[in-house]
Amino acid sequence: MSGRESTDRYFHEAADMMGLSANMQRLLLTPERQVKVQVAMKMDNGEIATFIGFRVQHNKARGPLKGGLRYHPEVDEDEVLSLATLMTWKTALVNIPYGGAKGGIQVDVRKLNPSELERLTRRFVDEIHDVIGPDKDIPAPDMGTNAQVMAWIMNQYEKYHGFNPACVTGKPVELHGADGREEATGRGVGLLTISLLEKMSEDLNGARIVIQGFGNVGTFAARYLFERGAKIVAVGDAFGAIRNPDGLNVPDLIEYVTKQGSVKEYPESEPVSAEELLLQECEVLIPAAVGGVLTKENAPHVRAKYIIEAANNPTHPEADDIFEERNIIVLPDILANAGGVTVSYFEWVQNRQHFRWDLDRVRDELDRKMSEAFARTWDLATTKKVNLRLAAYLLGIGRVGRATALGGI
Ligand code: GLU
Repeated sequence: MSGRESTDRYFHEAADMMGLSANMQRLLLTPERQVKVQVAMKMDNGEIATFIGFRVQHNKARGPLKGGLRYHPEVDEDEVLSLATLMTWKTALVNIPYGGAKGGIQVDVRKLNPSELERLTRRFVDEIHDVIGPDKDIPAPDMGTNAQVMAWIMNQYEKYHGFNPACVTGKPVELHGADGREEATGRGVGLLTISLLEKMSEDLNGARIVIQGFGNVGTFAARYLFERGAKIVAVGDAFGAIRNPDGLNVPDLIEYVTKQGSVKEYPESEPVSAEELLLQECEVLIPAAVGGVLTKENAPHVRAKYIIEAANNPTHPEADDIFEERNIIVLPDILANAGGVTVSYFEWVQNRQHFRWDLDRVRDELDRKMSEAFARTWDLATTKKVNLRLAAYLLGIGRVGRATALGGI
């Protein structure tokens, strides 16, 4: 099942429950604009390489379009569209004044050196600069991109449009970025993991956590939970996975990964396969990497009580049904990982006001936004007797639907 089939199914389930007409559902699901461009560039060896870049602008009923840029070999039109729809519901759920977009380039960044990556990014901006901008569509980091890539985007965009730091978020702190943006998604994941455990009267102290994906989101979530007493018992990345039932020393592991490039062969641990990682016995499983990893094949064997979707779209709907039957509670992506776009919003606000917030303010406002969205979702799920994903979609789609009805066509 493709990512898009999954996100469409979740949408229709909620929209049917809300009684939205077929025409309204079609309107809300149809992207407003899909851009597909050739990104041709000269590699360092003199050869010409041609890549395909995408930007899908799904819905701007609530404000300018917002969403990350993904550089990954699996990026295609359908996946980007599906991720763009998630951004629409996510920004609505945390109630920030944006619509949803997503973009990306089908490329394996591990095969590019830094100067090639820079040229690729600048060439992409040459192709899309007219459709993005601080009041139109604001890109941000996602898989395979980072603050440096955002700095190049800003610089290239400004060559066409003049000084305009709010044209992209997730920039380096030294270059109009926001303190706390880098940690934001992981912090939000950690915060809501604790909120969920509290609701379920589970003890955080010693709670066993498994994290699949040890990039930006996985490392910050691991550190946040480790510092508050949870036990990170297994982690994995694209190169390997490891476990230690007594709990990993997360700061030491992060130092190791910074030097070695992977968790693989970390001394205080034993290796596990990528598939076994998802099936470890634990309280909390956090998928924090690519989409579609929880399937109808592995869902019956997952031995976690709670799944926190730090990744976008990690769970196939069939797996979701199995988790529901098995009373495994899933905290959905559009809520769990919304910390990133929330602090992107704070960065954009700071850029537009030319006024810098300190880290404490960013963290306080982030925690408040995330806790509010969690509380509303939890309450709706309880009153309507639905799972958290359905409740989150009902809230997100409801807000977009109302904005659409109020604004008109
Ligand atoms: N790529 C992140 C997401 O999926 C962040 C998007 C943003 O900051 O605009 O939510």
